[in-house]
Parts: sequence; C-alpha cells; structure tokens
Amino acid sequence: MEVITEVDQMVEWVRECRAPRVLVPTMGALHEGHLSLCRAARDRAGEAGVVVATIFVNPTQFGPNEDLDAYPRQLAADLAACEAVGVDVVFAPQAGDVYASDASVSISEATLALGLCGGSRPGHFDGVCTVVAKLFNLTQPVAAVFGEKDYQQLAVIRRMVRDLNFPIEIVPGPTVREADGLAMSSRNAYLTPSQRQAAPGIQQAMVALREEIAAGKYEDSPSTAVEALEGRLEQVAGSESRVDYVALVHPDTLQPLESFWEDGELRYRLIVAVFVGKTRLIDNIGAN
Ligand code: AMP
Repeated sequence: MEVITEVDQMVEWVRECRAPRVLVPTMGALHEGHLSLCRAARDRAGEAGVVVATIFVNPTQFGPNEDLDAYPRQLAADLAACEAVGVDVVFAPQAGDVYASDASVSISEATLALGLCGGSRPGHFDGVCTVVAKLFNLTQPVAAVFGEKDYQQLAVIRRMVRDLNFPIEIVPGPTVREADGLAMSSRNAYLTPSQRQAAPGIQQAMVALREEIAAGKYEDSPSTAVEALEGRLEQVAGSESRVDYVALVHPDTLQPLESFWEDGELRYRLIVAVFVGKTRLIDNIGAN
C-alpha cells in the first residue's frame, strides 16, 4: 500500500496511473463503517482497479464552535486498517496543502443541503461539497463510495455529481452498527461510559417508531410521529440528551413528508440528530 501526503505527489501519481480508481473519502479514526466502504470499493474496483482512501479532517466543514481540534486523529492505526482491507493508496494531506490560504471558490448545493444537518450546521455542506470536489479532481475516480450513515451528505453529493457532470458513479454503503445498534461513528469515542450505554436508545426509539407507523398508530400524520419521537429522544440519556432535530422526509427530495405512503407502499426516511452530552450523534433509517 502506498501512502501519499502531498497534493503534488497525488497529482503525479494519478497522471501515471492507468488503472481505474475507486475513491473512499474519510476523516480518519477509521471503524468498521469506513472499512465496509473500503471493501465495497475493493469489490467495485475489481482486480484491474485501484482503491484510493483519503484521510483528511476537512476544516471547512466544521463550524467555529465545533470539534475540529478535538476530532480523533490516529493515522498509524488507520493505515494498518486500510492495508488490511485491500486499499491500494491512502491520500492523507495537510489542510495547508489542500487549501490555499486565500482560497475564494467553494461549492454550494442550494436545495438538499438547506435543512436537517445543514440547518443546524450552517456552511457544513459547502465545506463537504468543496472538499469532495477537490478530492474528485485530485484522484479522478470512476466511482466513489459514501455511507448511508450520512444520508443527507450522500444526497447532496449525488446532486453535486449530477449538476456539475462529474463522470463518477456514487456507490452507497449501508450503515454499520455496533452489536447494540448504535451507528458506528468516530465521534462515539467522545461518549462517557454512561452516555455510551444510553446511546443505542436512539436507534431503538427510531425502530420502535417505524413499527408504530407500520401498525397505523399515527394514521397518516408524519408530524405527530415526529413529535412522539422527539419526546422519547429527549429522554434517551436522561438530562444529558437534547434533540437537535427529528425529521420524517421524502427519501429523494429530503422534503418534510406529507404522507407515509407512496404508490401503495410505506416510503420515507427518518433522520435524527441528538446531542448526548456535548456529542452530536446522527442516525437514519428507511421505512423497511
Ligand atoms: P467520516 O470519516 O465521518 O467523514 O465518514 C467517511 C465516510 O464513512 C462517509 O461516507 C460516511 O458516511 C461513512 N460512514 C461513517 N460512519 C459509517 C457507518 N457507521 N456505516 C457506514 N458508513 C459510515
């Protein structure tokens, strides 16, 4: 496995590389969720292709009061994990190399990025789109793998790829969970033992709501279901939890849901963000 830390080196490497590339962008502190995406990339690339994973804690997607400085960094362990799942190249640049100090161009998605996490984290998706576009340009992949864990991010990236004609297939990867149901996240490391114990309650409450919706408990009123889940998630870690948002949205448009049903089938995405202590956890599930 090759490790590239300089932007110029990456450009040079791509210029020489004849094999099709499949990209897995990450911010490191890798867990099974990330590694599942690397395995999917390995499958997609096949024997002739090359898997490029990037490890870059992108400053432009963090707000001024967010956890950029505290974000876990563990490059040596990440490199070993990448090698073990068949990654061919890791690109791990420094922020000062990726962004000119007077950078003045960014990419903004103006519809899907507005609500949900975009509402709570102004500028977040501009940072995401900009860095992903840069990584696309630097690595020129035929495909890139993104996790459904970040459902809105996946939708925004798909839209960017469509609207800017990036010739790149976006491959989604399902959310990988701990044995107790908690969605894996690098941020789970921030949780205290008692918070960690309470955190699986988020997914349990979401799954319970999905069952209630299917059983007709909320008839066809998504807003009533949202209110019910908000109340439960507020309590999930006692006084330590605070709901950022709960949303039932259309899975493609991310617009607030008007009906649980489409063409005779239950169809929606349930998306939540909950603070447990200072840690903001996100999760989402579909109707089935
Ligand atoms: P991050 O390092 O948090 O920026 O995530 C990098 C990629 O891994 C993104 O495409 C995420 O959606 C994906 N990812 C993060 N956590 C998980 C998970 N638990 N399951 C699947 N994919 C994940």
